[in-house]
Amino acid sequence: MIIRMTAATNEQIKNHFHTSWPSEGCGLLLGTSSIDDSVDIHSIIPIKNVAADPTHHFELEPKVWVHHLLTSPDLIGLFHTHPVSAPLPSAEDLQNLQSYGQLMEVYLIAGIDPKAQLIELTAYEVVQQDHRYCLRPAALCVT
Ligand SMILES: [Zn+2]
Repeated sequence: MIIRMTAATNEQIKNHFHTSWPSEGCGLLLGTSSIDDSVDIHSIIPIKNVAADPTHHFELEPKVWVHHLLTSPDLIGLFHTHPVSAPLPSAEDLQNLQSYGQLMEVYLIAGIDPKAQLIELTAYEVVQQDHRYCLRPAALCVT
């Protein structure tokens, strides 16, 4: 899968990383998928992280999330940030994915590139394997 995103959307996610720091930031991705196995993300909706310990966990504010699930037909995925670590899915991320994997095609994580100390984004396709939802690395193309 190829995931395309505009530079403006990329900047919005990075801004959300900064404004949420030192907590994890999170939100929804809106976009469209094509039959050629590509996805275009056209905007994001930052959502409040209501986790009890938001520096190590994220939990989308349930009311807002449900509202968008019911009213946004172009809801295509979810993003969250890792304030001090690499943008790789944690065991907890994969565990939580089991409860909402069926609702999304795309999963993005913004984290810190340990070498360059810059914000780095990684993109994943949500796939089902052996009755579990998994994250398969996808190419992210910022246009
Ligand atoms: Zn995470």
